[in-house]
Amino acid sequence: MKREAVTTANAALVARSLRAVWHPCTQMKAHETWPLVPMVSGEGAWLVDANGKRYLDAISSWWVNLFGHREPRIVAAIEAQLHRVEHVILAGCTHPPVIELSERLAALVGGGLGHAFYASDGASATEIALKMSAHFWRNSGRPNKHRFVAVAQGYHGETIGALGVTDVEIFRSAYEPLLRAAALVPSPDWRLAEPGESPQDYAVRAALALEQHLEAHADNTAAIIVEPLVQCAAGMAMHHPEYLRRVRGLCDRFDVHLIADEIAVGFGRTGSFFAHEQAGIKPDFLCLSKGITGGYLPLSAVLATDTIYAAFYDDDTARGFLHSHSYTGNALACSAALAVLDIFRDDDVLAMNALRTARFDARIDWLHTDPRIANVRRCGTILAFDVPMATPGFSRRYAQAALADGALLRPIGNTVYFMPPYLLTEDEWVWLMGVSRRALDAAMAS
Ligand SMILES: *Cc1c(COP(=O)(O)O)cnc(C)c1O
Repeated sequence: MKREAVTTANAALVARSLRAVWHPCTQMKAHETWPLVPMVSGEGAWLVDANGKRYLDAISSWWVNLFGHREPRIVAAIEAQLHRVEHVILAGCTHPPVIELSERLAALVGGGLGHAFYASDGASATEIALKMSAHFWRNSGRPNKHRFVAVAQGYHGETIGALGVTDVEIFRSAYEPLLRAAALVPSPDWRLAEPGESPQDYAVRAALALEQHLEAHADNTAAIIVEPLVQCAAGMAMHHPEYLRRVRGLCDRFDVHLIADEIAVGFGRTGSFFAHEQAGIKPDFLCLSKGITGGYLPLSAVLATDTIYAAFYDDDTARGFLHSHSYTGNALACSAALAVLDIFRDDDVLAMNALRTARFDARIDWLHTDPRIANVRRCGTILAFDVPMATPGFSRRYAQAALADGALLRPIGNTVYFMPPYLLTEDEWVWLMGVSRRALDAAMAS
């Protein structure tokens, strides 16, 4: 009796959502057979549906919830700011949280990128970096430099400008006529290496293609946009840091900006606080979002160099960067971001994550021995593997089997990945591996 009532609560929410909510990244008709899950609360790494069933959020709710759900310190920071002021127009006014966040982000990059421009989502950060780069060249008397180079398989968001530098066919094709296509250079994804070619050698070869492109087109190229170390949306495609060193060198040589899109990989995902640190380089623009508020409120930032900033600083209004978003630098979101930075400092998160991943790595033997699995790879807290023999519908079957078992996982095509919040325990990890294995069996059987 009780069970039935609870199930009805779940079903009622689903029915209402399917009527009124147009869900993202979804063919809505698929929900005729693929159940939507109505989550009503969360705690740590777990989400709870209206039925009371718990799900381990193994993908940090689309890679944003770094410290899980209802982290008390982030909740407290937002609450405290709510009692001061929730939002302040950032044109003509400023406020303490946005100042402190900008200073601390600049310090975390270690100098050189001390000017933070804010928006509310990742795609807008991409738009800002692209516009700023082209506008920089225009202000510098080189207005022809307004084309962009993007990396094959790259993902930078889905607004029209961001889609122009995104190379994911399924997101692009319907909008192709609307887009201003970027020039594509080969991905340094090490899975594309020839047999016997090391990831580093392949990275060098991929950079060579960029060199050839810039030799011919640097005159009209403003910037190249890259996802340092991991092209996440492509299916956790990883590359050797040598690629970033080479790209940095080429950008210097050819007078082209390097835009590092760390929207997914920033904030500790790859093991270092920022991914580009592992290559020992600095970009000209650094795009941040996703983990920046720990998943509590929408926020993104673009950090730019002094040189870029200086090219806009002028008596002429039109030489300024006039771009704006209503919620720019929202005070609640900035407070959440400050709480996230406090947690990184107070809990020594990077060191703890290194310990955690070492322990997790010791529990994944099955990935290395299962003949259905290939390309097991890890970068920081991202673990992924491919299932080459997967048949169409694999990712849906896998996700559904995992959900039934109590884990939120969303394979990308034939790639299964884990991007857990930074608080998963070893027991939870071992349990998750069991779920994954059963989900693989189920997805391959049907
Ligand atoms: C998610 C993502 C974006 C877009 O961010 P949204 O907030 O979804 O617009 C851009 N670049 C990368 C690398 C991302 O992972």
